[in-house]
Amino acid sequence: MNKTMKENTWYCIKCNVAMKQTTLPYYEFQEGVPIPHVPALQCPSCLKILLTEKQAKAVEARTDKLLEQQFGFERKLTTSGKSLVVGVPYELADHLGMKAGKKVKIFPLNGKGFIVKKIEA
Ligand SMILES: [Zn+2]
Repeated sequence: MNKTMKENTWYCIKCNVAMKQTTLPYYEFQEGVPIPHVPALQCPSCLKILLTEKQAKAVEARTDKLLEQQFGFERKLTTSGKSLVVGVPYELADHLGMKAGKKVKIFPLNGKGFIVKKIEA
């Protein structure tokens, strides 16, 4: 054992042993959003898991990215004349810079639905 605690060494509060670098198969930073292969520290004695601030920030960023990719809005179709209308949530439209009056293009998606893309001016 080292005589002095190294700056980057973390100790298990319960066991007072140095925690070891490990890679968790999955870690849920946010409940229901498992992130694979997450670097973390683990106590070799009690197997307690600890994430350093840096590790926590990294897994938080990965969680945000995953949510962004998987995010979908559920909307009920309404009608306008013969056309079906889908309401675009304000936050999404604003994020994408879509405004009323701007043109979009609709692409069919394998008989499952469609994708709406903005037409870059
Ligand atoms: Zn421990």
